[in-house]
Amino acid sequence: MSDSRTDHDHGPTMLSRRHVLKAGAVLAAAPLVGGIAGRAEAATKAPVASGAFNARAYGNASATGRLEPLQIKRRAVRPNDVLLDVLYCGICHSDIHQTRNEWSTLPTVYPCVPGHEIIGKVAAVGSAVTKFKVGDIGGVGCMVDSCGTCENCLADREQNCLNGASFTYNSRDRATGENTLGGYSERMVVSERFVIRVPPGADLAATAPLLCAGITTFSPMQHWKLSSRQRVGVIGLGGLGHMAVKLAAARKAEVTVFTTSPGKIVDAQRLGAREAVLWSDTAAMKRLANRFDLLISTVPQAFPMQPFMDVLALDGTLVNVGALNQLEGGLVGMSMAFGRKSLAGSVIGGIAETQEVIDYCAARSIKADVELIRPEQLNQAYDRVVARDVRYRFVIDLTTGKNA
Ligand code: NAP
Ligand code: ZN
Repeated sequence: MSDSRTDHDHGPTMLSRRHVLKAGAVLAAAPLVGGIAGRAEAATKAPVASGAFNARAYGNASATGRLEPLQIKRRAVRPNDVLLDVLYCGICHSDIHQTRNEWSTLPTVYPCVPGHEIIGKVAAVGSAVTKFKVGDIGGVGCMVDSCGTCENCLADREQNCLNGASFTYNSRDRATGENTLGGYSERMVVSERFVIRVPPGADLAATAPLLCAGITTFSPMQHWKLSSRQRVGVIGLGGLGHMAVKLAAARKAEVTVFTTSPGKIVDAQRLGAREAVLWSDTAAMKRLANRFDLLISTVPQAFPMQPFMDVLALDGTLVNVGALNQLEGGLVGMSMAFGRKSLAGSVIGGIAETQEVIDYCAARSIKADVELIRPEQLNQAYDRVVARDVRYRFVIDLTTGKNA
């Protein structure tokens, strides 16, 4: 291709490589003043993509359609935006729910490109960006924007934005009005406020799942102040569940896993649980009555909750993060009243708290157990997640051809 062609004509690969090169050259020439000011000065000089551009992605066109390669449009980089070359993206069960239109209150807009456990390398920055420079590693979780002015946003709870957070996919892009498309993609453009700093030296593939599975289980532990020696139960040992075990064990809480899979009992202990119990083991459930301060359920479907209410101690709370459609009835008021027990929900965490969990895990070498896949293996990976056959997070390797 000749250099006289426009950026748009060059397509995604040429666009990216040229901008990375240009941005890198400017940075190299920037004075080495150090600190934020130096980085800001370099960043303001970095050239950025001048218009919307195309990117390769993986998604589906209907609820029953398989995931396949797609060409999507990314918005132009605005002054506060970061352009990321995506390196890794985790597969969350939410991706499966959304691509298959399984959430009654959040209908899917097609084509749907999922992915919200994203690790990328900064390829360009907008003129006002101060947090990142070209070459840095950034992470993107479930949100890419929020109103920024409501009381919840002002309190660092963007996930509870009263005007509706913009999610990484299947949401409205506040800048363009278009449907957001997620991280199963070569490249994305995100406001720097919603990009998380990833500390140098982190295992990037194993850090990706912290951006959803990690924060979603960390946040209730923070809110309900899970402390050492308290008893916590984790219901469902999948992507979220295995992070819950690791994060609770790191706080020196006493962890019990409730699983439907006999094959995961040994794993639960390896991950940090003191014991693992099958849901079907009624003797164990009876033995554990009135024991737990906190239960975190990561089960993706509605399920009978009363047996788990029964194992909560006085003032205990069952936090449901997994089942987001209609829950099962059948809770017994008398037992909740006499035990002053609570049923609660929780959704991901705010941006500051997401940065906190990334830093917390980096400082303690906590990472997800991941199985890397190629994009061609996506449909197979989805089937294995649904069959509860993942140990414990699939992560798509998108590094091919990139200087990762
Ligand atoms: P996952 O990897 O599939 O793990 C879910 C685990 O739940 C399974 O491995 C299985 O563990 C257990 N399970 C029990 N009954 C099941 C059933 N009928 N079907 C499938 N699994 C069953 O899923 P995940 O990525 O951890 O996500 C879990 C749920 O959390 C999903 O519904 C997801 O949408 C939701 N989520 C919510 C938030 C939030 O902010 N609230 C954030 C992320 C994800 P055992 O084999 O041990 O029984
Ligand atoms: Zn998720």
